[in-house]
Amino acid sequence: MLLDTICAVALYCQRCGQVHIQDVPYFIGQGERVLRCPNCSHEQAEIALRPQKGLVLRIPCGVCGTENRFGYSMQQLRKLRFEKIYCHGDQFELGYIGRWQTIAEFLDFNAAEFDALHPGEGDNFMAKQQILLEAVNRVHDLAEARQFSCPCGSHEFSAGIVEDSILLECVRCGSYAMLRAECTEDLQRLLPGMELNFLQPDMIWNR
Ligand SMILES: [Zn+2]
Ligand SMILES: [Zn+2]
Ligand SMILES: [Zn+2]
Repeated sequence: MLLDTICAVALYCQRCGQVHIQDVPYFIGQGERVLRCPNCSHEQAEIALRPQKGLVLRIPCGVCGTENRFGYSMQQLRKLRFEKIYCHGDQFELGYIGRWQTIAEFLDFNAAEFDALHPGEGDNFMAKQQILLEAVNRVHDLAEARQFSCPCGSHEFSAGIVEDSILLECVRCGSYAMLRAECTEDLQRLLPGMELNFLQPDMIWNR
C-alpha cells in the first residue's frame, strides 16, 4: 500500500453501473473532494477528511434517493481490509471500502464464483448490478416523462428494488407493477408506452 493513500473505495456508478477501484489520498485538501466515475464522470460520492472524525463519505443512493453518510476513524481505516457499503434506506449494495488489493481480489473472486455457481448464465454480480442500475435510471426517466399510468389514472410513482426486479408503486392508490431487470432483454423492454401489469396492493404478497 502506498503511504499517500488512506484506503481504496469501489462504488457502483449509479448512472452507468460500472465499478472501479479508486484510491482515497491522504491529501484531500480543504473541504470535500468529489469522487467521479472513471467511465462516465458521474458524481459518485463526496469525501472529506476531518481531524477528529476521520474519513467521511457521503454517497447518494440512485435507487431509493437516500443520502448516505459513512464515517471511519483513522484507527478503523488502518485495520480495515474490506467492507461492503450498503444504502441505509434499502440495503442496496453501493460498493466496497478497504485495501485496493483486497477489493480487487473480491471483485475477481466474486465474478469467478458467480460464474461457477450459475454456469451458462454468463452474467456475474457486477453485470447484474449494472443492469439493475440502468433499469432504475430508465424507469425514473420514463416515470418523469409520464410514460407510465396506473389504472387509477395517476402518473406519480415511487420505485424500489426487489431482488432482480423493479417495483413500481402508484403513489396515489398503492397499486404495484413488477419490472424484471435481470438481463439486457429486460432493459430493452423498458420503453415509452410499455404495457404494465398492475396489481392491487394486497395481491402482491400472495403471488
Ligand atoms: Zn459511470
Ligand atoms: Zn437506497
Ligand atoms: Zn394508482
